[in-house]
Amino acid sequence: MTITTPPRASSPSSGFGTRAVHAGSEHDPSTGAVIPAISLSTTFAQSAVGQPVGEYEYSRSSNPNRKNFEDMVAALENAKHALAFSSGSATTAVILQSLASGSHVISVSDVYGGTHRYFTQVAKAHGVKVTFTPEIEVDIREHITPATKLVWIETPSNPTLRLVDIRAVATAAHEHGIMVVVDNTFLSPYIQNPLDHGADIVVHSVTKYINGHSDVVMGVAAFNSEELFKRLSFLQNAIGAIPSAFDSWLAHRGAKTLHLRAREATTNATAVGHALEASPHVIAVNYPGLDSHPHRAIAKKQHRNGMGGGMLSFRIRGGHAAAERFCQLTRIFTLAESLGGVESLCEVPSSMTHAGIPREQREAVGVFDDLVRLSCGVEDAEDLKNDVLQALERAVAETVTNGTNGLNGH
Ligand SMILES: *Cc1c(COP(=O)(O)O)cnc(C)c1O
Repeated sequence: MTITTPPRASSPSSGFGTRAVHAGSEHDPSTGAVIPAISLSTTFAQSAVGQPVGEYEYSRSSNPNRKNFEDMVAALENAKHALAFSSGSATTAVILQSLASGSHVISVSDVYGGTHRYFTQVAKAHGVKVTFTPEIEVDIREHITPATKLVWIETPSNPTLRLVDIRAVATAAHEHGIMVVVDNTFLSPYIQNPLDHGADIVVHSVTKYINGHSDVVMGVAAFNSEELFKRLSFLQNAIGAIPSAFDSWLAHRGAKTLHLRAREATTNATAVGHALEASPHVIAVNYPGLDSHPHRAIAKKQHRNGMGGGMLSFRIRGGHAAAERFCQLTRIFTLAESLGGVESLCEVPSSMTHAGIPREQREAVGVFDDLVRLSCGVEDAEDLKNDVLQALERAVAETVTNGTNGLNGH
């Protein structure tokens, strides 16, 4: 017996929250279940040779839970297609592998560490060369060669939260038929939709905001072009770096509250940012939601309601020692890598996430030894603010007593 249920109300014109809850979430036609079952089957029956009963044949090629998740991300990124991968890093690898040998890529300098590692240590094995620039809006045209096929942007950048004007870069790139990829992990589709600003592909580490609960490693790419869909879905299947049905289901469940989490994280980061800015123990705050941010005008143009997102970083007085102590003295912020979950995290990039980058290169993009990165979760703003202020007081007092105070740390 087939139960007929009313069609879901989500459409491309629905608001973000409606799409987050309903896109890719049809009621089960045989049971009426509101939440799709987890489909663990690796293979799907065929009624005749080459005639599968439904739209699935083998779970690497496609799977109901992965398809539901991909449909939802496409709806949230205003894209025709989305493809999910086993991690954000696998997503990057597949996009780079789609380029012919001999291709050239232009990338912003302060990309995610793992992306930098792939670009500098893996891409060249199949003949792809990457040029890095710290001022891509200014000098992109100088770096373009006949071999340039792709431009890679991360905005905001990690961990200094610098912004890139996607439209300006896309305009220059498109004059030469070059594709633009934006890593949108730090803001999530709720705050920024890069395809609307001219990007050709948007990628996410789903591990962060989209899943949002620090319990899934996964990645996704979304785009409009049919040709890209053909090429990237071929590679998704051929390379096989795909997420499990269970992870796809979990990430889909997590994303249904993305808008609520992203709004709350922004509220919290804004409160923490203002408190840090007012503190005598802080040298500088990097947060695109503050009027003091050098690219605030881009945030107003490119982010939903000019929101700053949940990530910020700041330089503490007392050098590296104070930065380390701060991260041990917080009671709500947990000292850990990663970001974008419901729980607040803190870390010291110079000795954790960005330790692999040589000091001069690091400092050239603002990653000093005294920089602390915060990922604000969805706890209460007042508690987060008080936690940061008490940890600041104690960290700076301790390092002053120990005689290690100073802007240069060690
Ligand atoms: C974490 C992260 C990645 C890599 O994603 P994984 O899921 O860890 O492989 C890529 N880009 C950014 C901005 C990230 O924060």
